[in-house]
Amino acid sequence: IVGYYNGQFVTPNSGIVPLDERGHQFGDGVYEVIRCYGGRAFLLDWHLDRLWMSLQAIRIAPPFTKDECATLIERLIVESGELEASIYLQITRGSAIRNHLFPNPAVKANVSATVRPVASQIAKEPGTLLMMADERWANAWIKTINLLPNILAKQTAHDMGADEALLVRDGAMIESASSNLWFVRDNQLITAPADRYILNGITRRFVIQLADRLGIPVRETKLPAKDLATVDGIFITGTLTEVFPIHRVLTHPDVPYVSLPDVTGLQQLSADKCQVAWEA
Ligand code: PLP
Repeated sequence: IVGYYNGQFVTPNSGIVPLDERGHQFGDGVYEVIRCYGGRAFLLDWHLDRLWMSLQAIRIAPPFTKDECATLIERLIVESGELEASIYLQITRGSAIRNHLFPNPAVKANVSATVRPVASQIAKEPGTLLMMADERWANAWIKTINLLPNILAKQTAHDMGADEALLVRDGAMIESASSNLWFVRDNQLITAPADRYILNGITRRFVIQLADRLGIPVRETKLPAKDLATVDGIFITGTLTEVFPIHRVLTHPDVPYVSLPDVTGLQQLSADKCQVAWEA
């Protein structure tokens, strides 16, 4: 395990982040999670391209070049001594006295990272999803560190005995709380298009490439929640999730998923009211 903050290797939980830090105070930053296999960062170029897109989207000047960032990541892996690891990399707008406006003059972005060992998910039993309304903002394509709706969705799913959320927006099943969502129907793969409402996952893109190589058709389209019963299979993808099969989808009468009511369902729920909406 290794931690990094603005040029220094640190132990991950040493108190090093200043109080007036914009990531800490506002969630004013972006991040990447990269999987390291056999000591090498997997699909690193794609991750760096997306990180640069996220930085540009929220108007943070990159504090280094992509090459310098790649070199840093390789050093972090070596320093950690890990072969199978997750690399968390975060860039925030920097440290300045708390003010919603961007610091003027601009301050240097803060870069932090951790490298921790992880195990493959491949051998895990198939999982369960809980269908719920997507409460995220309309720029889910940016990988920002503001993850409160994702955290609450995943915790609610967990509380109901599910592994992940199945997020529904405008009547369509588009994504999970920390992974992309896929359906199998009529020997085709179906996943939501990479518009502003989903994070265009690196694993999603890799699976599209693999399917293309294998001659499996992929349709990037929004599947209505009412069509759930018509699908033959479901899986989710993500850097740490990898490709994870789903064998059951639940709904809960108190968890809205068709559209958001005036009062959202953040209350404690009892899991025994869950109903099975789909089973493999
Ligand atoms: N969707 C969301 C909301 C995520 O947070 C993530 C990853 O954390 C993904 C999808 C999967 O993206 P990737 O394959 O790049 O890890």
